[in-house]
Amino acid sequence: MTEPAVVITGLKKSFGPLEVLKDIDLTVAPGEVVCIIGPSGSGKSTMLRCVNLLEEPTGGKIVVNGVEMTDPDVDIDRARTKIGMVFQGFNLFAHLSVINNLTVAQRKVLKRGEKEAEEVARHNLERVGLSEKANAMPAQLSGGQQQRVAIARALSMSPEVMLFDEPTSALDPELVGDVLGVMRQLADEGMTMLVVTHEMQFAREVADKVLFMDGGYVVEQGPAAEVIGNPQHDRTKSFLARVL
Ligand code: ADP
Ligand code: MG
Repeated sequence: MTEPAVVITGLKKSFGPLEVLKDIDLTVAPGEVVCIIGPSGSGKSTMLRCVNLLEEPTGGKIVVNGVEMTDPDVDIDRARTKIGMVFQGFNLFAHLSVINNLTVAQRKVLKRGEKEAEEVARHNLERVGLSEKANAMPAQLSGGQQQRVAIARALSMSPEVMLFDEPTSALDPELVGDVLGVMRQLADEGMTMLVVTHEMQFAREVADKVLFMDGGYVVEQGPAAEVIGNPQHDRTKSFLARVL
C-alpha cells in the first residue's frame, strides 16, 4: 500500500475558549483531490491552516508525506516547503515583477541558483498560461491573472501537496473559470490537493472526495456524487439547498 499524502487524526483547535475544530479525521491519498465545503465559520480555513502549521493545533496529529508536522522536533520551515498554499487574496509581492515573485523563495528558501529558479518559474508560468506576463508587475494584472501567478509561485517550490482556501471567492465572476481551469489541470496531472471552495460544480467534477464541515466537525464525507448529489445529513442538505 502506498503511504497516504496527508493523515489528520483527532485534530482539535481552540482560540482561547472558542473550540473551532472539535475532532477532525481525514486521510488523503497521493494524487487525490479533496474539496472541503461548509458554512462560513465552520472551521474550514483553520483546518487547512493547521495542515502546514500556520495555526498550531491544540490536539491531534498531522502527517504530511510521512513527516509529522505536529512533532515538536520537526524542522517546520523545511516541512512547509513541501506544502503549497493559495489564499483567497492573491498575496503577491507588489513591488516585484511576476518572474521575481516566482523566483524569490526558490532562491532564498530552496537555495536554487538564479538560472534554475528562472527556468522553474518560466515553466510554471507556462503551466498557468501566463508566459507573456513574466515581466509585468502584479498591479498590471487582472485578479484572475494574479491568482494564476500565485498558483505558479506555489508550484515553483515543487510542492507535494497544494492547499487552496477559496481561491476564486475574491474574483469577478468572469475570471473564476480560468483559475478553476488551472486547478483542474493540476488535478489531472496528479497533484494532491485540498480545496476549500463554494464552487459546487468544480467539486462535483474534480473532487475525488468531498468533506462537509459544520461547527468544527466533519459531518459527512465521501465521493462528490454522494455528498453533493445525495447528502445523508440534514445539515448537509440545508447547506446545499442554500448554495446550489
Ligand atoms: P471558515 O473558513 O469555515 O469560514 P474559519 O476557520 O475561518 O471558518 O473560522 C472558524 C471560527 O474560528 C470562526 O468562529 C472564527 O471567528 C474563528 N477564528 C478563526 N481564526 C481565529 C483567530 N486567529 N482567533 C480567534 N478566532 C478565530
Ligand atoms: Mg475560510
